[in-house]
Amino acid sequence: MIVALTGGIASGKTTVANWIASRGIDCIDADLIAHQLVAPGTVGLLDIAEHFGPHVLDKHGALNRRLLRNLVFNNANERQWLEHYLHPKIRARMRQQISESRSTYTLLVIPLLVENNLQQMADRVLVVDIEPHRQLTRICQRDQVSLQQARQIVANQASREQRLNIADDVIVNDGSLQELLEKTAHQHQQYLQLAARLNS
Ligand code: ATP
Repeated sequence: MIVALTGGIASGKTTVANWIASRGIDCIDADLIAHQLVAPGTVGLLDIAEHFGPHVLDKHGALNRRLLRNLVFNNANERQWLEHYLHPKIRARMRQQISESRSTYTLLVIPLLVENNLQQMADRVLVVDIEPHRQLTRICQRDQVSLQQARQIVANQASREQRLNIADDVIVNDGSLQELLEKTAHQHQQYLQLAARLNS
């Protein structure tokens, strides 16, 4: 059974995923794969540097992510090129890792699941939901940005409603960290039971 975990920025996805991973569940992280695909020495990084020019590399030969983000932010063609280049490779690597997973269920952590329409990769979609005011406060505190910048970041993502519309299961992160972990444990138990039923 494959569970896709998603949620808005600073909603608590990593906290939930880490707890589930600590229980022996294989966690496949789309962001980590995306980073690995363009790590120094990879074909991915070479291809990107060839397309955008060597100035997208920093002095250590690593990808200057901030520069690349700026290059594609206001240029739909370049953004499309990058997405067409990376997304099939990310999906292929996720599929590969799914096929290697042996845990009772497999967790796919895909922050941009809705934006990239990837819900069909999973049997169930788990959304970590956070109320906007809490989310904005957490972004401001953690990332040292203004409220206006935090609002802009959230506005650039899928909306809370879009995520909730495709959710099979929802963890509402509206309390303490301890409460978040308790809700995660409860959800994990449900997945173990569901996986057992599916596998029997
Ligand atoms: P991002 O999308 O930015 O990677 P995320 O969705 O993975 O974020 P986390 O990294 O799990 O979210 O949480 C963001 C921050 O908020 C972390 O510092 C985490 O410890 C904190 N946090 C999450 N939930 C709670 C909570 N219920 N109470 C207090 N702090 C919390």
